Amino acid sequence: MKTISVAIDGPSGAGKSTLAKSLSAKLGYVYVDTGALYRTIGYYVFSHGIEPKDQEAVTAILPEIRVEMCYGEDGLQHMLLNGQDVTKEIRLPEISMYASAVSAHPPVRAFLLEMQRQLARTNNVIMDGRDIGTVVLPDAQVKIFLTATAEERARRRHLELEQRGTPQPFETVLQDIQQRDYNDSHRAVAPLKQAEDATLLDTTSLNFAEAEQAVLQIIKEKTR
Ligand code: C5P
Repeated sequence: MKTISVAIDGPSGAGKSTLAKSLSAKLGYVYVDTGALYRTIGYYVFSHGIEPKDQEAVTAILPEIRVEMCYGEDGLQHMLLNGQDVTKEIRLPEISMYASAVSAHPPVRAFLLEMQRQLARTNNVIMDGRDIGTVVLPDAQVKIFLTATAEERARRRHLELEQRGTPQPFETVLQDIQQRDYNDSHRAVAPLKQAEDATLLDTTSLNFAEAEQAVLQIIKEKTR
């Protein structure tokens, strides 16, 4: 059976995961959050006191790491790190920067590549990340580059952190987003960039329902 792949790339906080989660439930596709893979490695590096920018040190610990993805009874993607469920831990704000730093190392990207491709070979997927349309699934039928201004993304993330009970000052959230944008788009390997054949969708002035409708429309057009 030929599977369908929807690749959604874009900067942090553009709404990729919320949209992908909701649409995959509606379409019956498997949602794959690839950021969680980098976060899992970032979390391991963090908890072992390793400097995340030190490529040699990070590469040396890769053979110790087993990263698995499974879907819990809640229908959500869970991450297992050497058999331990770290789904919650990888969302801690300090892990974002670790994930961003370790994701710049080519051996880390190579380590996670086949796992992502295998998921798309065996399932209809909506996969979100930074390099899905450009590197991981260059033949995906649907490619969307989702973006919004840094201020709007920071505003959304600030609200989300507040609702989660882990508030942070707006300025800190904005700086974190700007720093990650810079890291993700300036790394040498698989930088964040729009694939030539991707559809650009700017969600700055769209609410969730409008953005969801727009993405659904793109998916319908490309898969009919
Ligand atoms: O999407 P999320 O913010 O959870 O991703 C965490 C980090 O993982 C990003 O800042 C980015 O550096 C990295 N990442 C990546 N390639 C992907 C997905 C995430 O480099 N496909």
